[in-house]
Amino acid sequence: MYCKLCLKNTDLRESHIIPETFYQEIYDDLHRMVVLTLEDTKLKLIQSGIKEKLLCHNCEQRFSKWENFLKKDLVDFGNKQSKYLRFSLVDENVIKIEGIRYNEFKLAILSILWRLSVSSHPYFYLYKLGVYEEKLRHILLNGIAPDESIYPISIKRHEIEKEFHPAIIMQFPPKVFKQLVTINTSTIPPIKIQQLVTIQAFTIWGHTFKIIVNDNNFLKINLERYLRKSGHLNIKTQELIEFMSEDSVLKRIDDQDVNNIFEKMINEAEHLS
Ligand SMILES: [Zn+2]
Repeated sequence: MYCKLCLKNTDLRESHIIPETFYQEIYDDLHRMVVLTLEDTKLKLIQSGIKEKLLCHNCEQRFSKWENFLKKDLVDFGNKQSKYLRFSLVDENVIKIEGIRYNEFKLAILSILWRLSVSSHPYFYLYKLGVYEEKLRHILLNGIAPDESIYPISIKRHEIEKEFHPAIIMQFPPKVFKQLVTINTSTIPPIKIQQLVTIQAFTIWGHTFKIIVNDNNFLKINLERYLRKSGHLNIKTQELIEFMSEDSVLKRIDDQDVNNIFEKMINEAEHLS
């Protein structure tokens, strides 16, 4: 079978789409998890995350190096404590972080986004990157993160009653917005084109990552809100309940079928012990 990243015909591993390390706080005693999605409100009980034959051994290793950096950083973000990252408050709800290893951090996020897109699992059907899938494949294969204004990444931290919770994995439908772009030419009036821009988002380890899926420099964005090449990042803290939209499944947490699943998990765990 062909590796989706290096395209070599070789043995493929059962690759996690979202790396297993981010499920750590979610697995119950039976090594299962409840997955909540916004789109369909059906609950799914999944064994050990979602896996698929995607990558060869070498490519899997390449990704896991970046993932380990990302995981360490996210654990520190959660604790607001670190040996090498520095934290300060910009205001009550915004934390400034310095010292992030830009290259590894950005590549890890982009690699997860890319895996969500190349996965053929129906659970990830919302993440189809179109032409950007192949562009990202090249970036990941080269191992050099693009500039801060290319595929810019912003991050939100979620709290529940002021407490950080790493055990949150969520996915979202893409958002598309229109932007009027002026092209640099000598013509009068200047040429303006309308550009459609897609934002993809996912939540792992209690943080929601938003990625603007765009690789041209015409995009007008306030870089202060995004991961900077200098290793700076401003993270906004938001109560999860405010963040979730009206039709959120979190509202369903008290519903009977949700409770039944939790009860079943607890009973089975007790039965085993
Ligand atoms: Zn490969």
